[in-house]
Amino acid sequence: MNSAELDWSNLGFGYIPTDYNIRCNFKDGKWGEIEVCSSETINMHMAATALHYGQEIFEGLKAFRGKDGKIRIFRLEANAERIRKSAIGIKMEPVPVELFKKMAIMAVKLNERFVPPYGSGASLYIRPIELGMTAGIGVKPSKEYLFMIMVSPVGPYFKEGFKPTNICIMREFDRVAPKGTGRWKVGGNYAASLTAGERAHELGYSAVLYLDPREKRYLDECGPANFFAIKNGRYITPASESILPSVTNDSLQQIARDFGIEVEARQITVEELSEIEEAAACGTAAVASPVAEIDDLDTGMKYVISKNGEPGEITTKLYNQLRAIQNGEVEDIHGWNTIVE
Ligand SMILES: *Cc1c(COP(=O)(O)O)cnc(C)c1O
Repeated sequence: MNSAELDWSNLGFGYIPTDYNIRCNFKDGKWGEIEVCSSETINMHMAATALHYGQEIFEGLKAFRGKDGKIRIFRLEANAERIRKSAIGIKMEPVPVELFKKMAIMAVKLNERFVPPYGSGASLYIRPIELGMTAGIGVKPSKEYLFMIMVSPVGPYFKEGFKPTNICIMREFDRVAPKGTGRWKVGGNYAASLTAGERAHELGYSAVLYLDPREKRYLDECGPANFFAIKNGRYITPASESILPSVTNDSLQQIARDFGIEVEARQITVEELSEIEEAAACGTAAVASPVAEIDDLDTGMKYVISKNGEPGEITTKLYNQLRAIQNGEVEDIHGWNTIVE
């Protein structure tokens, strides 16, 4: 595709082909040479563990064209570290942090013409994946792995503006088990969330607010995103063994502290939803997606969070600051951006 033909501000979150993807294979006990590839397909054995037993993990991060024209990758190191934890979690070979970083920078640089312009609200989404490649019918970890990074330009998440949406609590489904794979970024967790997610969409909700799978008393994740709320002016976010540690959530917590807002990562009961002033889902895709109302489908309770249909004041402030850091509009005091030279 000719990048000059892309309408940056109207891009969705679909797949747009770019020029190159970057690959590296783990074989005979070591990582091989980095390969620059222009094929969009993978040649793999039909008995690969990724296909049969779900040995697949991924990451999601973004590169932005800043006000000064420079390209910044947001929190490259944090994502490199997280995919290692995911790998160890499901017995895959962890990718060295330096290899991850080098490949991600190559993927962005070689596809530079697909990095959307400053001011469009669009960005270059970076998607690293790791797959178990060894053929085998018996259940055991792969000996060989493919680690690869593809990129795709994605549009602004809020096409109609930064507006709150409704979410729902549904006890019929759990995404993950209490001591299961929720804390790692495993493809299978997403498969486990599709039925509930689609049902929520059919009912007009943007996402499911999951409860902790052990007791169903505490808030867990909001679909494929973390959840946070503002209560008595404090930033509160669920702490649980089944939550994926979101880099966006971590960043928003730090920004909140920078603004003098207290942060509490702790168990949050469902009942506490009646005492909060603001709520949002957070993750790389949207940064923060404000919540208007939370409907408990099992009890009939409706928690109206946004009384006027607008995002909360603190949520908006945190959202704007995070975006300003990503776009190079304010000083990056925590060293979160990697500038692609
Ligand atoms: C990726 C992901 C998130 C968001 O993490 P970020 O690092 O902020 O993008 C939250 N929850 C789940 C289940 C995820 O897979």
